[in-house]
Amino acid sequence: MHIAIIGAGMAGLTAARALDEAGLQVTVFEKGRGLGGRLSTRRGETGQFDHGAAFFTVRHPAFITEAAAWREEGAVEVWPGKLVHLTQQGVEDAYPDDRYVSVPGMSALGRFLAEGLNCQRGHRVQQIEPTGSNWRVFLDDGSTQSFDGLILAIPAPQAVALLSGVHHFAADIEQNVHMTACWSLLAQSEAKPAFDAAFIDNDSPLAWVAHEVSKPGRHDSLNWVAHSRGDWAEQHLHHATDWVQATLTAAMQQVVQGPVEAVAVHRWRYARTARALGQACLFDRALRLGIAGDWCLGDRVEHAFLSGQAVAQTVLTSA
Ligand SMILES: Cc1cc2nc3c(=O)[nH]c(=O)nc-3n(C[C@H](O)[C@H](O)[C@H](O)COP(=O)(O)OP(=O)(O)OC[C@H]3O[C@@H](n4cnc5c(N)ncnc54)[C@H](O)[C@@H]3O)c2cc1C
Repeated sequence: MHIAIIGAGMAGLTAARALDEAGLQVTVFEKGRGLGGRLSTRRGETGQFDHGAAFFTVRHPAFITEAAAWREEGAVEVWPGKLVHLTQQGVEDAYPDDRYVSVPGMSALGRFLAEGLNCQRGHRVQQIEPTGSNWRVFLDDGSTQSFDGLILAIPAPQAVALLSGVHHFAADIEQNVHMTACWSLLAQSEAKPAFDAAFIDNDSPLAWVAHEVSKPGRHDSLNWVAHSRGDWAEQHLHHATDWVQATLTAAMQQVVQGPVEAVAVHRWRYARTARALGQACLFDRALRLGIAGDWCLGDRVEHAFLSGQAVAQTVLTSA
């Protein structure tokens, strides 16, 4: 059986690895140049920035086991940074969970998970079509390929776009799932606040700042990443990037209490899940169509892993 997976983020790669290990033939299509999806690192003249997920926590037993194996293989490490909450009342220490990062950047985990898999990067799937007992996948270079089964592992609104007019899952997802945007600010600062990273819960447009060098394996001592609040990003989704960059830079100066020089801003159209589906995956046994993604269960890397694992198990038990 040959399965196509759309999306090489944590969910898609987790599903691909499980199916590949079970002996199925798997092809992963990824529209981006990199692997890992929102586990993402931008590199440039000013060094590197984890401008998507900053870290991940590990709570479910299956994910604890998996993260321990990745750690043993050197793909991830625990980030010992000092994290705080900045609230209207002042500064509080953040909850003490272990926080994992991949090394040397968050995108390294995608590359690690994809080792040995057939991943076709730079291939956007534009359309999908059930054809009798197969699925036909239409790529943006005009070519088509056929598969025995199909898994979508992409953000909910993008899954809705592909499924519209094809399957009733489109309506189920559209009615029940809501994802919000995020603006990431990549910046440099010599400020030395009394924290390595902060969750911000006051009237700032920012929700998070992190000093990159405090994470294992990073060396760019001036580099910081800040994330906007989701509601702020939704309100300012189509504002000029210059204005967004200037506004978030000013907000970050307040947070770190020192001068900040912006390097770039990045808009994540679908960053975090505000309302999850509430089940680990969707699967149509007759059509061999599976749907996965963090948004099935929540808004974290762990949720994407559990969803990818669930959809693979469902495919295997129905094969
Ligand atoms: C700014 C930000 C901060 C975050 N912070 C944290 C955090 O601190 N901790 C945490 O646990 N989580 C965090 N997250 C969430 C975390 O990144 C996600 O939960 C997780 O990475 C989602 O994985 P996924 O596989 O479900 O989706 P994605 O990572 O989005 O992967 C989907 C992939 O599908 C590809 N794709 C989409 N459409 C197509 C198509 N038509 N054809 C081909 N490819 C396609 C995309 O390019 C992408 O690579 C954060 C996310 C963002 C954006």
